[in-house]
Amino acid sequence: MKNISSENLSAAQHSLIEAAIAATDTAYVPYSGYHVGAAVLTRSGSVFAASNVENVAYGPTVCAERMAIGKANASGARDIVAIAISSRSDKFEKTKIACGPCGSCRQVIYEMSQVSGYNIDVIGSTIDKSNIAVSTIEDLLPLRKKTYASVNLISSEKLNSDQHSLIEAAIAATDTAYNPYSGYHVGAAVLTRSGSVFAASNVENAAYGSTICAEQMAIGKANASGARDIVAIAISTRSDDQEKNEITSDPCGTCRQAIYEMAQVSECNIEVIMSDKNKRNVIVKSIEQLLPYAFGPSQLHIDVVKGNL
Ligand SMILES: [Zn+2]
Ligand SMILES: [Zn+2]
Repeated sequence: MKNISSENLSAAQHSLIEAAIAATDTAYVPYSGYHVGAAVLTRSGSVFAASNVENVAYGPTVCAERMAIGKANASGARDIVAIAISSRSDKFEKTKIACGPCGSCRQVIYEMSQVSGYNIDVIGSTIDKSNIAVSTIEDLLPLRKKTYASVNLISSEKLNSDQHSLIEAAIAATDTAYNPYSGYHVGAAVLTRSGSVFAASNVENAAYGSTICAEQMAIGKANASGARDIVAIAISTRSDDQEKNEITSDPCGTCRQAIYEMAQVSECNIEVIMSDKNKRNVIVKSIEQLLPYAFGPSQLHIDVVKGNL
């Protein structure tokens, strides 16, 4: 995200930020005390603002950005061109740096950018507008829009033996996917600093939102074995629809968010290795490359570094 001075904002951007700031007052945040407001702008100039709604079972919490998109959608407005976000905390002094959306929200904003055909502008602002940062959803969720010409594909001979076995574990895990709805098999395998590997696959659900991706399953499996010092994750996918099998998939925004959290715990910029089932198209990136300007535990002033938990 690039910092810009508020004088360089258009009138529409100004009012969008104001709507996001005002929405922070409506946040339902009994657990974190962290108020987030978001406002989306449609091509015709309509603005829809909303705030975060938390839940005692933390997982069902819905971020302000997704609430605002849902509000626009419920009003028949899907041609979103911009989203503004602002936040403040009951627990600590106001932040000086504007926050970016979490990975899950980036995933949802990206979906809407496909609907509107517009690379949605993402504008973060501190509550006092002293720091304003702008970006686009394609920059905030790199690789989602894959143009292979712009991606460094690695030939599998250039991989080291750890990377090779991690990819093999991910490919093998695709066979265990529970995917009666999409027919899309995803396998993921995480590698810890001490060399342990934990592999898992996606588990879908008739209530689609309850589906859990392979990457999060693999992280959960490692965590349940007491292993949080993750240094790499490999991901492989294949589809029952043979035509989709040449594609090397990247982790969704929610998984990037989950990987980023573990990167904070292990203090390692986790390597993300993506491979098709034949290991023909391999892409290697770090989690910081895949989730730039991430929202993490430091934004909540929480120290999650291994050993401090
Ligand atoms: Zn979010
Ligand atoms: Zn995912």
